[in-house]
Amino acid sequence: MPIYSHSQLSVYEQCPLKYKLHYRDKIERDTEGVEAFLGNMVHETLRKCYDDARLTRVISLPELLSFYDITWQKSWHDAVVITREDVTREHYQALGKRMIETYYHRYAPFNADITIQTEMRLNFALDKGSRYKMTGFIDRLSRTGDGGYQIHDYKTSAHLPGQENVDHDRQLALYQLGVQRRWPDIKDIKLVWHYLAFDRDLVSSRSDEAIARLTADTTRLIDEIESALEFPPKESSYCDWCEYPDLCPARRHFHVIESLPPNEYLKEPGVVLINRYAELKEQAGTIGEEMDKVKEAIVEYARREGVTAMRGTGSKVRVKFDSRLRFPGKSEAERGGLDDAIVRAGKWMEVSQLDTAALTRIVGEGSWDRKLVEEVMKYGRIEDTSSVYLSKLKEGED
Ligand code: SF4
Repeated sequence: MPIYSHSQLSVYEQCPLKYKLHYRDKIERDTEGVEAFLGNMVHETLRKCYDDARLTRVISLPELLSFYDITWQKSWHDAVVITREDVTREHYQALGKRMIETYYHRYAPFNADITIQTEMRLNFALDKGSRYKMTGFIDRLSRTGDGGYQIHDYKTSAHLPGQENVDHDRQLALYQLGVQRRWPDIKDIKLVWHYLAFDRDLVSSRSDEAIARLTADTTRLIDEIESALEFPPKESSYCDWCEYPDLCPARRHFHVIESLPPNEYLKEPGVVLINRYAELKEQAGTIGEEMDKVKEAIVEYARREGVTAMRGTGSKVRVKFDSRLRFPGKSEAERGGLDDAIVRAGKWMEVSQLDTAALTRIVGEGSWDRKLVEEVMKYGRIEDTSSVYLSKLKEGED
């Protein structure tokens, strides 16, 4: 069984295909999102700050910012990707600088606690048999004056989560487990997230029961990943940062089109087909609405004039006026009473039919007994199907 990390598990949850391409197929990409690059630079700078403080050296703010700038310049590479057109590399660099400044003003001279280690690697197992192995890095582990411990995590994201989110966060809770596996006598651990862009810390803790639940959930997730045979793409806002659009059936066409000049773009066969389809669909919608209106007018005319047949120049219509018996549909309120009455009378089999759509769903979910599913599947067959859904491009996709 491979060693898992929190980010590996998160990638699987975000998109199974991305997980497969990255962790199973090990397809390397040299691109790096600017947000991740910025995060790395800020982490390195704060690491320097605490590593110096451990040696009793309190680094000055100008010196720390200069370290940040030099590290930024040295580490910048051509494959750093900036997706927002209106924001430059300099904007991001300045943003990181501001985060360090505010953090410095709040925490200098960095002696509120004792740093045990920065960028501390943790390897630990979720279970006693060491089958489910995990790894991770703690940004900083510290001990406070009252004998408690703190696991610190620096966040450079532009989103400040709510308390409830951090109370359910998996990453630092797993690190708590890792720390307690290494030092079983440590009982009092706080999890601290430093949201640097907001000059805001969020603090949480986990009980033994919460850690036991987390262990069970994580073990289950690893079992799911290990037994997965299919890794479908799962589109979400994470696609904007995905490094595999060229290998993803859900994004490849978008990726190909983006790189074409406008004159070639409009001639690309896929673009031509979609444009034509959208045009026809719009016309069909308008025609459908118009047909309904004309049909209503024909019925109205026939009723008014007392006729059941009418003619045009090359065609004619027949209008049939009728009354028919109708019972409530599945979603109507009175349906339950009707069903009960028929069941009570023992006549259900005379009027009911197998709901094959429900059967397909149940077989797919695997909620029935295996033997029964095998029996049912003797009558089922796999047919290739396809559907085409047309929708408007979202903002940023056009
Ligand atoms: S582009 Fe989106 S759907 Fe495709 S692999 Fe990446 S994250 Fe998954």
